[in-house]
Amino acid sequence: MIGFLIRKVFCKNLASELTEIKLTENGFSISEPFEANTKSFHWNEIKDVRFSENNKEVIIEKSYKKIILKKNNIGWYDFIQNVPSNFTDFDFDYIKDLMDSLKPCEVCGIVAVRENECIVCETIAWNNEMTESKIEYLKLKQSEFYSDQIKNRKEIKKVAEPEHGFKADKNWKLHI
Ligand SMILES: [Zn+2]
Repeated sequence: MIGFLIRKVFCKNLASELTEIKLTENGFSISEPFEANTKSFHWNEIKDVRFSENNKEVIIEKSYKKIILKKNNIGWYDFIQNVPSNFTDFDFDYIKDLMDSLKPCEVCGIVAVRENECIVCETIAWNNEMTESKIEYLKLKQSEFYSDQIKNRKEIKKVAEPEHGFKADKNWKLHI
């Protein structure tokens, strides 16, 4: 995951991708880039939580303030799966359908493939129109995804672990 984050930071350089949402005991916190303080919120002080019309943002209403969480914020998928059920405007069915629709990624081992692209490692799932064989493709993409660990001679874990609110695929294999 560190490789994934670093890639996002240096290649894309988009501030919203550096904003991190974390769940806390009774609420959540938001750390924005270039701001020293992490803001913490308690669910009790939140009046409403709902999706934007295109489902790419979550709009959180606090008494005098609106907080917008974007889909590419770090921790978004963890957050949307942990909104308390008393926020009745929140579309819990959408999240269930979304999470149920995800398929395992053969590159990173996380169940996060949506419309043939992995949300976590951003790899396009192999298909038989590609010139490489499936194994060649997985070797190539895993080498790219784990390039930081390879460069730093760090061991790559052989079993995928759940990350950022996504499940891991028990049958995942490391091919490199
Ligand atoms: Zn992946």
